[in-house]
Amino acid sequence: MPELKKIKETLKEYFGYESFRPLQEKIISSVFKGEDNLVIMPTGGGKSICFQLPALLLPNITIVISPLIALMKDQVDGLVANGIPAVYLNSSQTESEQTLIFKQLKEKTLKLLYVAPESLSFLQEELSSIPISLIAIDEAHCISSWGHDFRPAYKQLGYLKNKYAGVPIIALTATADKATRADICNQLNIPHATQHLASFDRQNLALEVRPANKRIDQIVEFIDLHSDSSGIVYCLSRKTTEELAGKLEANGFKAAAYHAGMSHEQRSKVQEDFVNDTLPIVCATIAFGMGIDKSNVRWVIHYNLPKNLESYYQEIGRAGRDGLPSSTLLFHSYADIIQLQKFNTTSGNKEVQEAKLERMKQYAEALTCRRKILLSYFGELIEEDCGNCDVCKNPPDFIDGTLLAQKALSAVARLKESEPISTVIDVIRGAKNAVVLDRNYQQLTVYGIAKEISWLDWQYYFIQLMNLGYIEIAFHQKNRLKLTALSKKVLFEKEQVQLANLASIKEKEQYNT
Ligand code: ADP
Ligand code: ZN
Repeated sequence: MPELKKIKETLKEYFGYESFRPLQEKIISSVFKGEDNLVIMPTGGGKSICFQLPALLLPNITIVISPLIALMKDQVDGLVANGIPAVYLNSSQTESEQTLIFKQLKEKTLKLLYVAPESLSFLQEELSSIPISLIAIDEAHCISSWGHDFRPAYKQLGYLKNKYAGVPIIALTATADKATRADICNQLNIPHATQHLASFDRQNLALEVRPANKRIDQIVEFIDLHSDSSGIVYCLSRKTTEELAGKLEANGFKAAAYHAGMSHEQRSKVQEDFVNDTLPIVCATIAFGMGIDKSNVRWVIHYNLPKNLESYYQEIGRAGRDGLPSSTLLFHSYADIIQLQKFNTTSGNKEVQEAKLERMKQYAEALTCRRKILLSYFGELIEEDCGNCDVCKNPPDFIDGTLLAQKALSAVARLKESEPISTVIDVIRGAKNAVVLDRNYQQLTVYGIAKEISWLDWQYYFIQLMNLGYIEIAFHQKNRLKLTALSKKVLFEKEQVQLANLASIKEKEQYNT
């Protein structure tokens, strides 16, 4: 193992950093000792150095498995610019490019070789004839169907430990939940790997969730308050990114869309302008931000609900990498949940994805410190409430909501559990619209029993009742509201229900619709 002095000099000379970030030094010395490691660090935490620096000082080549060509290219470009001999191999290269790489491999002039898992098989022969110092597996959660980004080609990586028995493996990911972690070690055949879990707490990110009413107006107002700063609005569809960018432009902001349907040139241009601070706002699908290094993003908005907390955390994590206060805003809508449910029925491990979406939804609807919920999801417990989320800033007080709950639940019962939330609210508020009149709902005893409460307030009360388990949404049956075992206690056993006091929430920004 090289001396610490030598390691620190290398850090300075090749990477330009004065000191290590938390955990980096410990991980690097474990790698030098030849141990296997699993590194869990949030995006932007500084994972790359953990294998790039050892790669430089170890005698032989380091193989880096990476899932995306764009990521490989960025890292290799960065390394080469720092004078480190690194290349990547992937299927988009010409035969002569690949021949050159094979030649360099034989001549042992490379320190790092990046390769997609799909392309590993091309290298079988070459790799069996040259000595390898280290194998790094980036985005290692892709091996696990428990993770949020499963990739079949990662499945085969388990053979690496057998084939290159003495070669240490370092697996890296930003996904921290316990089940995924264990699954990664298990599948990579590194059961004794040391796990390094960096803190996921990013206290400089203010967390806020609002209902998705009049999203555009809210976004315009939000950006007005954050003028002259950079931000990203994440949207679910390509169409929304374009529409939203157009509307923001119409409101006098400089904004552009970014999505996978655009040409490579168009996307590079948007990315460059954003990084160079000539374009402050990007409305993007999730494809934006991976591998871009911009530390002064001041805010991130989620126009749509992300499909799980990992994605959400990764995306808000693109704000405030410089450590300065930054804002995040998530819009919560039931239409989005329905949309995401549909994706889940058509792809991958359906049950896991549904459970993850449920956690996402609970986060959005929480009435307790959001950071606590987020961090506990990543296996980190904090004692104190954070003071920098909307719930902490405006904690709700509670009222006796028993009567409200009884009214809501009996309406669901009278409607024979066959209507969605909007119709139930219309009925208890005595609306005279087509659905109500067509179905003769004005004749029900529950019709108009709670006119005095606004539509929006009812929506909030229903969300709370769902969170508390008194009502369920049947997602596969047109989102009709259904009663649960708990609702019977309210209807027949006079169970008391505590609900957050909307009057107190309303005075606050959070209720800013
Ligand atoms: P990750 O792969 O975990 O998302 P990166 O390895 O890309 O993170 O590092 C994120 C940012 O932090 C990069 O801009 C990188 O240059 C910077 N960085 C990493 N280690 C250090 C360090 N020891 N000191 C200062 N900056 C660092
Ligand atoms: Zn909080």
